[in-house]
Amino acid sequence: MASIMSHPFSHLRRAGHLFVIAIAVAAIPPACPAFAQAALSVTEVAPGVYVYRGEHAEANPENDGGIANIGFVVGTRSVAIIDTGGSPVIGTALLSAIREVTDRPIGYVVNTHFHPDHILGNSAFSAEAPVFIGHANLPAALRARQESYLARAAETLGQDVSEAWFVLPKHLVSTRETIDLGDRVLILEAHPPAHTDSDLTVLDEATGTLFAGDLVFLERIPAVDGSVLGWLAVLDRLAEIPARKVVPGHGPVAAAWPDALADERRYLKVIVTETRRILAAGGTLQAATATVGLSEKGRWLLFDDYNARNVTAAYTELEWE
Ligand SMILES: [Zn+2]
Repeated sequence: MASIMSHPFSHLRRAGHLFVIAIAVAAIPPACPAFAQAALSVTEVAPGVYVYRGEHAEANPENDGGIANIGFVVGTRSVAIIDTGGSPVIGTALLSAIREVTDRPIGYVVNTHFHPDHILGNSAFSAEAPVFIGHANLPAALRARQESYLARAAETLGQDVSEAWFVLPKHLVSTRETIDLGDRVLILEAHPPAHTDSDLTVLDEATGTLFAGDLVFLERIPAVDGSVLGWLAVLDRLAEIPARKVVPGHGPVAAAWPDALADERRYLKVIVTETRRILAAGGTLQAATATVGLSEKGRWLLFDDYNARNVTAAYTELEWE
Protein backbone atom coordinates (compact mmCIF):
# COMPACT_ATOMS: atom_id res chain seq x y z
CA MET A 1 0.00 0.00 0.00
CA ALA A 2 2.87 2.38 0.81
CA SER A 3 4.25 2.02 -2.70
CA ILE A 4 0.88 2.92 -4.21
CA MET A 5 0.60 5.94 -1.95
CA SER A 6 4.07 7.08 -3.03
CA HIS A 7 3.22 7.00 -6.71
CA PRO A 8 3.26 10.37 -8.41
CA PHE A 9 -0.16 12.05 -8.57
CA SER A 10 -0.53 11.25 -12.29
CA HIS A 11 -0.55 7.54 -11.49
CA LEU A 12 -3.26 7.63 -8.86
CA ARG A 13 -6.14 7.10 -11.25
CA ARG A 14 -4.54 3.97 -12.66
CA ALA A 15 -3.51 2.86 -9.20
CA GLY A 16 -7.04 3.46 -7.87
CA HIS A 17 -8.12 -0.14 -8.35
CA LEU A 18 -5.08 -1.48 -6.61
CA PHE A 19 -5.64 0.99 -3.80
CA VAL A 20 -9.19 -0.27 -3.23
CA ILE A 21 -8.03 -3.87 -3.32
CA ALA A 22 -5.28 -3.10 -0.82
CA ILE A 23 -7.82 -1.60 1.60
CA ALA A 24 -10.15 -4.56 1.16
CA VAL A 25 -7.33 -6.97 1.98
CA ALA A 26 -6.27 -4.91 4.98
CA ALA A 27 -9.86 -4.97 6.30
CA ILE A 28 -9.83 -8.77 6.59
CA PRO A 29 -8.82 -9.61 10.16
CA PRO A 30 -5.57 -11.52 10.50
CA ALA A 31 -6.03 -15.26 10.74
CA CYS A 32 -6.53 -16.23 14.39
CA PRO A 33 -5.43 -19.48 15.96
CA ALA A 34 -8.47 -21.62 16.71
CA PHE A 35 -8.08 -21.16 20.46
CA ALA A 36 -7.99 -17.37 20.38
CA GLN A 37 -11.12 -15.84 21.79
CA ALA A 38 -12.04 -12.24 22.46
CA ALA A 39 -12.14 -11.56 26.18
CA LEU A 40 -15.50 -11.23 27.91
CA SER A 41 -16.19 -7.74 29.13
CA VAL A 42 -15.90 -7.96 32.91
CA THR A 43 -16.43 -5.34 35.61
CA GLU A 44 -14.45 -5.12 38.85
CA VAL A 45 -17.39 -4.94 41.27
CA ALA A 46 -15.15 -4.92 44.37
CA PRO A 47 -11.35 -4.98 44.69
CA GLY A 48 -10.16 -8.17 42.98
CA VAL A 49 -13.70 -9.35 42.22
CA TYR A 50 -14.76 -9.41 38.57
CA VAL A 51 -18.15 -10.14 37.03
CA TYR A 52 -19.44 -10.71 33.52
CA ARG A 53 -23.09 -9.74 33.30
CA GLY A 54 -25.06 -12.32 31.31
CA GLU A 55 -27.73 -11.00 28.98
CA HIS A 56 -31.40 -11.40 29.81
CA ALA A 57 -32.29 -13.87 27.06
CA GLU A 58 -32.53 -17.54 26.35
CA ALA A 59 -29.33 -19.16 25.07
CA ASN A 60 -28.98 -18.65 21.31
CA PRO A 61 -26.26 -18.72 18.60
CA GLU A 62 -25.59 -14.98 18.99
CA ASN A 63 -24.93 -15.02 22.74
CA ASP A 64 -23.19 -18.45 22.80
CA GLY A 65 -25.10 -19.20 26.00
CA GLY A 66 -23.61 -16.20 27.82
CA ILE A 67 -26.82 -15.52 29.71
CA ALA A 68 -25.74 -16.07 33.33
CA ASN A 69 -23.55 -13.90 35.52
CA ILE A 70 -20.14 -15.46 35.97
CA GLY A 71 -16.99 -14.13 37.56
CA PHE A 72 -13.68 -14.59 39.30
CA VAL A 73 -11.83 -13.57 42.44
CA VAL A 74 -8.09 -12.90 42.50
CA GLY A 75 -5.93 -13.75 45.53
CA THR A 76 -2.18 -13.29 45.97
CA ARG A 77 -1.56 -16.95 45.05
CA SER A 78 -4.38 -18.01 42.76
CA VAL A 79 -7.67 -17.25 41.11
CA ALA A 80 -11.10 -18.79 41.74
CA ILE A 81 -13.75 -18.81 39.06
CA ILE A 82 -17.40 -18.85 39.97
CA ASP A 83 -19.38 -20.43 37.12
CA THR A 84 -18.10 -20.75 33.58
CA GLY A 85 -20.99 -19.81 31.26
CA GLY A 86 -23.18 -21.63 28.80
CA SER A 87 -20.59 -23.00 26.36
CA PRO A 88 -16.82 -23.50 26.00
CA VAL A 89 -16.80 -20.34 23.86
CA ILE A 90 -17.92 -18.33 26.89
CA GLY A 91 -15.51 -20.18 29.18
CA THR A 92 -12.60 -19.47 26.84
CA ALA A 93 -13.59 -15.81 26.63
CA LEU A 94 -13.72 -15.68 30.44
CA LEU A 95 -10.22 -17.16 30.59
CA SER A 96 -9.04 -14.44 28.19
CA ALA A 97 -10.61 -11.81 30.47
CA ILE A 98 -8.80 -13.29 33.47
CA ARG A 99 -5.49 -13.22 31.61
CA GLU A 100 -5.96 -9.51 30.92
CA VAL A 101 -6.14 -9.01 34.71
CA THR A 102 -3.65 -11.51 36.15
CA ASP A 103 -1.29 -14.33 35.21
CA ARG A 104 -1.79 -16.14 38.53
CA PRO A 105 -2.86 -19.77 38.23
CA ILE A 106 -6.51 -20.76 38.17
CA GLY A 107 -6.71 -22.67 41.45
CA TYR A 108 -10.44 -23.37 41.56
CA VAL A 109 -13.52 -23.50 39.38
CA VAL A 110 -16.64 -23.38 41.53
CA ASN A 111 -20.01 -24.35 40.01
CA THR A 112 -23.01 -22.84 41.81
CA HIS A 113 -25.47 -25.47 40.49
CA PHE A 114 -26.15 -27.76 37.53
CA HIS A 115 -27.89 -25.51 35.00
CA PRO A 116 -26.20 -25.42 31.59
CA ASP A 117 -25.79 -21.64 31.42
CA HIS A 118 -23.52 -21.91 34.47
CA ILE A 119 -21.49 -25.05 33.78
CA LEU A 120 -21.02 -25.68 30.06
CA GLY A 121 -17.90 -23.50 29.97
CA ASN A 122 -16.04 -25.75 32.44
CA SER A 123 -13.97 -27.58 29.83
CA ALA A 124 -12.32 -24.31 28.78
CA PHE A 125 -10.38 -24.44 32.06
CA SER A 126 -9.32 -28.09 32.07
CA ALA A 127 -5.84 -27.30 30.72
CA GLU A 128 -5.29 -24.98 33.69
CA ALA A 129 -5.80 -27.99 35.99
CA PRO A 130 -7.87 -26.24 38.67
CA VAL A 131 -9.82 -28.02 41.39
CA PHE A 132 -13.41 -28.23 40.17
CA ILE A 133 -15.75 -27.72 43.11
CA GLY A 134 -19.48 -28.26 43.48
CA HIS A 135 -22.30 -29.20 45.81
CA ALA A 136 -22.27 -32.83 46.93
CA ASN A 137 -25.37 -33.46 44.78
CA LEU A 138 -23.88 -31.89 41.66
CA PRO A 139 -22.14 -34.84 39.94
CA ALA A 140 -25.22 -37.06 40.04
CA ALA A 141 -27.43 -34.19 38.86
CA LEU A 142 -25.09 -33.50 35.93
CA ARG A 143 -24.79 -37.15 34.94
CA ALA A 144 -28.58 -37.47 34.90
CA ARG A 145 -28.94 -34.42 32.66
CA GLN A 146 -25.89 -34.72 30.41
CA GLU A 147 -27.68 -36.14 27.39
CA SER A 148 -30.63 -33.76 27.48
CA TYR A 149 -28.49 -30.69 28.18
CA LEU A 150 -26.15 -31.46 25.29
CA ALA A 151 -29.05 -32.09 22.92
CA ARG A 152 -30.61 -28.80 23.95
CA ALA A 153 -27.29 -26.95 23.66
CA ALA A 154 -26.81 -28.27 20.12
CA GLU A 155 -30.28 -27.03 19.25
CA THR A 156 -30.19 -23.62 20.95
CA LEU A 157 -26.55 -22.67 20.28
CA GLY A 158 -26.25 -24.23 16.85
CA GLN A 159 -22.85 -25.64 17.80
CA ASP A 160 -21.28 -29.07 17.63
CA VAL A 161 -21.51 -30.28 21.19
CA SER A 162 -19.40 -32.94 22.85
CA GLU A 163 -19.46 -35.03 25.99
CA ALA A 164 -16.14 -33.33 26.79
CA TRP A 165 -18.20 -30.21 27.61
CA PHE A 166 -19.22 -31.96 30.81
CA VAL A 167 -16.50 -31.57 33.41
CA LEU A 168 -17.80 -32.83 36.72
CA PRO A 169 -16.59 -31.40 40.04
CA LYS A 170 -14.18 -33.61 41.94
CA HIS A 171 -14.16 -31.69 45.19
CA LEU A 172 -17.61 -31.79 46.74
CA VAL A 173 -19.10 -29.58 49.45
CA SER A 174 -21.94 -30.85 51.62
CA THR A 175 -22.02 -28.17 54.33
CA ARG A 176 -19.55 -25.33 54.58
CA GLU A 177 -15.90 -25.00 53.59
CA THR A 178 -13.29 -22.34 52.99
CA ILE A 179 -10.69 -22.01 50.27
CA ASP A 180 -7.71 -19.68 50.51
CA LEU A 181 -6.55 -17.87 47.37
CA GLY A 182 -3.67 -16.24 49.21
CA ASP A 183 -4.58 -13.45 51.67
CA ARG A 184 -8.15 -14.01 50.60
CA VAL A 185 -10.62 -16.57 51.90
CA LEU A 186 -13.77 -17.70 50.14
CA ILE A 187 -16.54 -19.32 52.18
CA LEU A 188 -18.45 -21.97 50.25
CA GLU A 189 -21.85 -23.01 51.55
CA ALA A 190 -23.97 -25.88 50.25
CA HIS A 191 -27.72 -25.40 50.61
CA PRO A 192 -30.68 -27.76 50.87
CA PRO A 193 -32.93 -28.02 47.76
CA ALA A 194 -34.09 -24.56 46.65
CA HIS A 195 -33.50 -23.24 43.10
CA THR A 196 -32.06 -26.72 42.42
CA ASP A 197 -30.86 -29.57 44.64
CA SER A 198 -27.23 -28.49 44.23
CA ASP A 199 -27.07 -24.79 45.12
CA LEU A 200 -23.72 -23.54 46.39
CA THR A 201 -22.93 -19.94 47.38
CA VAL A 202 -19.53 -18.26 47.56
CA LEU A 203 -18.75 -15.39 49.92
CA ASP A 204 -15.57 -13.39 49.44
CA GLU A 205 -14.77 -12.44 53.03
CA ALA A 206 -12.44 -9.60 52.12
CA THR A 207 -15.06 -7.56 50.27
CA GLY A 208 -18.32 -9.09 51.52
CA THR A 209 -19.24 -10.02 47.95
CA LEU A 210 -21.70 -12.91 47.82
CA PHE A 211 -21.91 -14.95 44.62
CA ALA A 212 -25.41 -16.31 45.09
CA GLY A 213 -25.74 -18.27 41.87
CA ASP A 214 -29.38 -18.69 40.91
CA LEU A 215 -30.54 -18.55 44.50
CA VAL A 216 -30.93 -14.88 43.64
CA PHE A 217 -32.58 -13.61 40.47
CA LEU A 218 -33.00 -9.88 39.87
CA GLU A 219 -35.12 -8.54 36.99
CA ARG A 220 -35.34 -11.97 35.30
CA ILE A 221 -38.07 -14.25 36.66
CA PRO A 222 -36.78 -16.93 39.08
CA ALA A 223 -37.00 -20.52 37.83
CA VAL A 224 -37.99 -23.23 40.30
CA ASP A 225 -36.15 -26.49 39.60
CA GLY A 226 -35.77 -27.69 43.19
CA SER A 227 -38.23 -26.80 45.92
CA VAL A 228 -40.26 -23.61 46.20
CA LEU A 229 -40.69 -24.05 49.97
CA GLY A 230 -37.03 -24.97 50.30
CA TRP A 231 -36.07 -21.86 48.36
CA LEU A 232 -38.06 -19.60 50.69
CA ALA A 233 -36.29 -21.21 53.65
CA VAL A 234 -32.88 -20.76 52.02
CA LEU A 235 -33.65 -17.08 51.41
CA ASP A 236 -33.97 -16.68 55.19
CA ARG A 237 -30.58 -18.34 55.59
CA LEU A 238 -29.01 -16.14 52.88
CA ALA A 239 -30.34 -13.02 54.60
CA GLU A 240 -28.21 -13.94 57.63
CA ILE A 241 -24.99 -13.88 55.59
CA PRO A 242 -23.12 -10.66 56.33
CA ALA A 243 -22.74 -9.70 52.67
CA ARG A 244 -22.23 -6.15 51.50
CA LYS A 245 -22.95 -6.86 47.87
CA VAL A 246 -24.61 -9.69 45.95
CA VAL A 247 -23.81 -11.06 42.52
CA PRO A 248 -27.07 -12.72 41.48
CA GLY A 249 -27.15 -15.55 38.96
CA HIS A 250 -29.06 -13.22 36.66
CA GLY A 251 -29.46 -9.46 36.89
CA PRO A 252 -27.43 -6.53 38.17
CA VAL A 253 -24.97 -6.68 41.05
CA ALA A 254 -26.78 -5.19 44.02
CA ALA A 255 -25.45 -3.43 47.11
CA ALA A 256 -28.73 -3.46 49.05
CA TRP A 257 -28.42 -6.55 51.21
CA PRO A 258 -30.51 -8.42 52.21
CA ASP A 259 -33.12 -6.12 50.65
CA ALA A 260 -32.12 -7.49 47.23
CA LEU A 261 -34.00 -10.68 48.17
CA ALA A 262 -37.36 -8.90 48.53
CA ASP A 263 -38.69 -9.21 44.97
CA GLU A 264 -37.84 -12.88 44.69
CA ARG A 265 -39.28 -13.68 48.11
CA ARG A 266 -42.50 -11.89 47.19
CA TYR A 267 -42.80 -13.79 43.90
CA LEU A 268 -42.18 -17.19 45.48
CA LYS A 269 -44.67 -16.44 48.27
CA VAL A 270 -47.33 -15.46 45.74
CA ILE A 271 -46.79 -18.74 43.91
CA VAL A 272 -47.07 -20.75 47.14
CA THR A 273 -50.10 -18.91 48.50
CA GLU A 274 -52.12 -18.97 45.29
CA THR A 275 -51.22 -22.58 44.43
CA ARG A 276 -52.27 -23.72 47.91
CA ARG A 277 -55.58 -21.91 47.45
CA ILE A 278 -56.24 -23.76 44.19
CA LEU A 279 -55.25 -27.10 45.71
CA ALA A 280 -57.53 -26.50 48.71
CA ALA A 281 -60.44 -25.87 46.33
CA GLY A 282 -59.67 -29.05 44.38
CA GLY A 283 -58.46 -27.07 41.37
CA THR A 284 -56.54 -28.72 38.54
CA LEU A 285 -52.98 -28.11 37.45
CA GLN A 286 -54.37 -26.36 34.35
CA ALA A 287 -56.40 -24.02 36.55
CA ALA A 288 -53.27 -23.27 38.54
CA THR A 289 -51.02 -22.53 35.57
CA ALA A 290 -53.71 -20.33 34.01
CA THR A 291 -54.12 -18.07 37.03
CA VAL A 292 -51.36 -18.33 39.63
CA GLY A 293 -48.76 -15.56 39.77
CA LEU A 294 -50.34 -13.28 37.16
CA SER A 295 -50.11 -10.26 39.49
CA GLU A 296 -46.33 -10.61 39.05
CA LYS A 297 -46.42 -10.51 35.26
CA GLY A 298 -45.31 -6.89 34.81
CA ARG A 299 -42.51 -7.22 37.33
CA TRP A 300 -40.25 -9.79 35.67
CA LEU A 301 -38.50 -10.30 32.36
CA LEU A 302 -39.18 -13.64 30.59
CA PHE A 303 -42.29 -14.07 32.77
CA ASP A 304 -44.26 -15.93 30.09
CA ASP A 305 -41.39 -18.36 29.53
CA TYR A 306 -41.17 -19.54 33.14
CA ASN A 307 -44.20 -18.71 35.27
CA ALA A 308 -46.34 -21.66 34.23
CA ARG A 309 -43.38 -23.99 34.73
CA ASN A 310 -42.84 -22.59 38.21
CA VAL A 311 -46.51 -23.04 39.04
CA THR A 312 -46.33 -26.63 37.79
CA ALA A 313 -43.35 -27.27 40.06
CA ALA A 314 -45.13 -25.66 43.02
CA TYR A 315 -48.36 -27.59 42.37
CA THR A 316 -46.49 -30.90 42.23
CA GLU A 317 -44.63 -30.07 45.43
CA LEU A 318 -47.55 -28.67 47.41
CA GLU A 319 -50.18 -31.26 46.52
CA TRP A 320 -48.43 -33.64 48.92
CA GLU A 321 -48.79 -31.31 51.90
ZN1 LIG B 1 -30.12 -21.89 37.28
